Amino acid sequence: MEIAPQQEWVQNLAQELRNERAKLAARATQSNVTALASNEPWDEGDQAKIYEDREARWINQRVLDHRIQMIDQSLQQIALGAYGICKQCRKPIDPARLAAMRYALSCVTCQAKNERRSRAVNRAGAYRN
Ligand SMILES: [Zn+2]
Repeated sequence: MEIAPQQEWVQNLAQELRNERAKLAARATQSNVTALASNEPWDEGDQAKIYEDREARWINQRVLDHRIQMIDQSLQQIALGAYGICKQCRKPIDPARLAAMRYALSCVTCQAKNERRSRAVNRAGAYRN
């Protein structure tokens, strides 16, 4: 496999990703602290609102976790000198795609295949419920 050179922009990107990761991690911790602090008595009228808040926080947490995971994977690819190489087919990812989505780990072709597969899995899950 061809090793991508560690160009300056890759190093800059790694630094940016690390900064972003630190910010996201701080926000994730903060939202956990808020969740604990809001464990106060509430009347029934607030119930729906509280469930909504909890759900929003849970979704937010999942989004944060997912983004941190994407950043970690990108950093790992950078460390391996494989950033910008599709993890599945090992072909270079279109630079325009990377510019638009810097966490992209697969090329457009493989990504489309993954999405088709995960939609099929979701459909199968929906039928089971
Ligand atoms: Zn690919």
